[in-house]
Amino acid sequence: MTQLQRAREGTVTDAMERVAEREQVDPEFVRQQVADGRAVIPANVEHDRLDPMIIGREFATKVNANIGNSETDSGVEEELEKLHAAVHYGADTVMDLSTGGDLDRIRTANVEHSPVPLGTVPIYEAVKRAESVADITHELLLDVVEKQAAQGVDYQTIHAGILMEHLPLTDGRKTGIVSRGGSILAQWMEENGMQNPLYAKFEDICEIFAEYDVTFSLGDGLRPGCLADAGDDAQFAELETLGELTSIAHDHGVQVMVEGPGHVPMDQISGQVERQQEVCDGAPFYVLGPLVTDVAPGYDHITSAIGATEAARAGAAMLCYVTPKEHLGLPDAEDVRDGLAAYRIAAHAADVANGREGARDWDDALSEARYDFDWRRQFDLALDPERARSYHDQTLPGDNYKEARFCSMCGAEFCSMRIDQDVRESRRDSRSSQTKSDPPRDADGEMSEIAEETDVEASAAAEVNRPPVGTHEVDGAPLEDVDLDREYPPADD
Ligand code: SF4
Repeated sequence: MTQLQRAREGTVTDAMERVAEREQVDPEFVRQQVADGRAVIPANVEHDRLDPMIIGREFATKVNANIGNSETDSGVEEELEKLHAAVHYGADTVMDLSTGGDLDRIRTANVEHSPVPLGTVPIYEAVKRAESVADITHELLLDVVEKQAAQGVDYQTIHAGILMEHLPLTDGRKTGIVSRGGSILAQWMEENGMQNPLYAKFEDICEIFAEYDVTFSLGDGLRPGCLADAGDDAQFAELETLGELTSIAHDHGVQVMVEGPGHVPMDQISGQVERQQEVCDGAPFYVLGPLVTDVAPGYDHITSAIGATEAARAGAAMLCYVTPKEHLGLPDAEDVRDGLAAYRIAAHAADVANGREGARDWDDALSEARYDFDWRRQFDLALDPERARSYHDQTLPGDNYKEARFCSMCGAEFCSMRIDQDVRESRRDSRSSQTKSDPPRDADGEMSEIAEETDVEASAAAEVNRPPVGTHEVDGAPLEDVDLDREYPPADD
């Protein structure tokens, strides 16, 4: 049975218990959210190493990292390194978008070693196995979907929402269809004169997903690829279909999240999130960015993290990261790190803005360490401790500078926090010499509040909100025990 079916019958599963512990909420609340289809726990019954997590707007905002190779680059070892980097730098889920090489070896290796849910896009493998896109059959598609489910993939992007009748709506677009899956299915429909096979066979896919508890990630094949195309008829026609498919999947007891755009001007983002939530009956929204401007290739982890923050603030449950290489090339491990940092900032900023319980404790603890010149604690609390430490040490490497009341940015003489501390100290001294018994008072005669230190370890912040986020320790670090020379037998085909 799926997590959704168990939740509906009133059972709190082990996965729900674990999720409740990580989020520091009542397990019954987790069960109810899953039962209502407002949250998903992607947890294929064949994924042994998984540490369960939850995606839903009532929980901490999650971040997905895409990894995967292309025809021109990367094998199993490189993909495992990317998986390691993604988990190490805080990905809550990872999607394997590989389109080249031995796809089965890469996928099974990833499932075997990933403590976080793994997602795939089965249409990519179907393209590889067919002579041409037009030759993809219904049977081949179902075969790929079922094989990947049996291999332990936790969620699959299924572009079932793009229909024949939607295609003319893209004619006036500036950038047409930019989703890889969307463009493949559009080609298939044009060449065969038939309806989208993933739509036609959607109930068969539901049955496969129900058997393995694979979660749908309903793909947005018609997402806008530029600001000019955002919110057009094609995008919203597909969204209506995604709403219908959400309902059908729920009827089969299958968990669903829905993918979203893309490229969207800042002022349209919250409206788009609200519309998805309404059309898809509260199913978690999983957004790619969105990018809020098209003018910054090379910096699209930033343009998209701005949009992602706004989307999460408005109710998106998971953010798919974008790396600096977006639109330009295949990301390497350093790009994965930069993309994840940008998106973990976006997710956390939204959680703070949304008042998620305990989220800001992390900020407060770091600020206190900063004001105390407790450099080591500041590094430990940093979102990317290694980078924070290395930037500091580039100019002040000596151990003695870990006690210093300044850094190289302003220098000792102009360090404003040092100056402020000295001013406060002398104010305190002068007050205590005037009236030793009176506590300090402000201009209105009220007693000044003395800030209490934040104990971030004891705060109500979810585990996912606390440093070191992303270590996801389960039976040892994710890839430390990986034998990169190991041969992976081809999966049954
Ligand atoms: S020198 Fe400037 S940047 Fe560095 S700790 Fe002091 S106030 Fe902050």
